[in-house]
Amino acid sequence: MSRTFSGLLIGAVTLLLSGCAGISKGPFGQQSADLQPHGIVLPPGWPENTDENGGGRNWANQGGKIIVLGNAQDGGVPHVGCLKECCESARRNGQRLGPSCLAIVDMVQKKAILVEATPAIEEQLAMISFAGRPRKPVEAVLLTHAHIGHYTGLMHFGREVASTQSMPVYCTPKMAGFLEENGPWDQLVKLEQIDLKKSEPGQAITFEDFGFGLKVTPIAVKHRNEYADTVAWRIESPSRTVVFCPDIDRWNDDILETLIEGADVCYLDATFYDGRELPGRDMSKIPHPPMVETMDRLQDLAKKHPGRFRFIHLNHTNPALHDEEIRRSVIERGFGIAEVGESFYLW
Ligand SMILES: [Zn+2]
Ligand SMILES: [Zn+2]
Ligand SMILES: [Zn+2]
Repeated sequence: MSRTFSGLLIGAVTLLLSGCAGISKGPFGQQSADLQPHGIVLPPGWPENTDENGGGRNWANQGGKIIVLGNAQDGGVPHVGCLKECCESARRNGQRLGPSCLAIVDMVQKKAILVEATPAIEEQLAMISFAGRPRKPVEAVLLTHAHIGHYTGLMHFGREVASTQSMPVYCTPKMAGFLEENGPWDQLVKLEQIDLKKSEPGQAITFEDFGFGLKVTPIAVKHRNEYADTVAWRIESPSRTVVFCPDIDRWNDDILETLIEGADVCYLDATFYDGRELPGRDMSKIPHPPMVETMDRLQDLAKKHPGRFRFIHLNHTNPALHDEEIRRSVIERGFGIAEVGESFYLW
């Protein structure tokens, strides 16, 4: 096949997602011998419109999709400074996983909204380049917070690179203030390369011209907030709802119940599995809910709707990235591990 990207590697998407209604199969319906998910893969079905789990639709020009463009924690895989096998093997094999990132793509009009602007933004936008225009790679960007894996890709919108024109960037007023007041981000604002849309948590934003109408709502979540505050995003079409919560300190104050309510698919913080990644550290003091706790809390619901809850934002050390047995146990419990390239019909 001539239309391949360099470094194209096929993950274990097919195997791991089978049994999960609504989530598309892996890029070419293959499964890899090892279960480590790999770097940049093209959206499912690309380019020949075969999407076996998509209701027989021609994915290239129908409906709208959420596509996972990245599934790792901020530092990605391989991770700077890590000389352990998790990253050394990735270096040896040319595997790369970008930080957590979603695209909302209107497949008919060929346009997209990017959820997070990560340091891997070029590779991630490359997966949806069919929806981009010159100097306008996407219609808008939604940001969760001011940690490096979530917003620093904005730098590529500046005069050194794309020099976009008033790219709408939706974030909280506090996050907008951080971008307005600190270099180099303030230059993007002054030169009107980005247009900050201050979005109060809880207040929905509508995109009438996406599909049959798209609504996105930032939901405030607690997370260590050195520079700004943090939100999750609820993404709704008239028919489906997806929730994206890559970073949160704890599932307290009923926030988990609030987030998942009425959502068809939820991408949830999976930075750490159970603490084995941090030997000698007290897990109760680590500001992320371990996957094992999230699974315990959601077990009954996951059994009812396998694949509804999908783990994202995996740290490079998280065994759910590379330990076959753990991956299988997560899937068997009815949960999913987000794979780069997986997608879900939003309308
Ligand atoms: Zn993060
Ligand atoms: Zn590592
Ligand atoms: Zn964070």
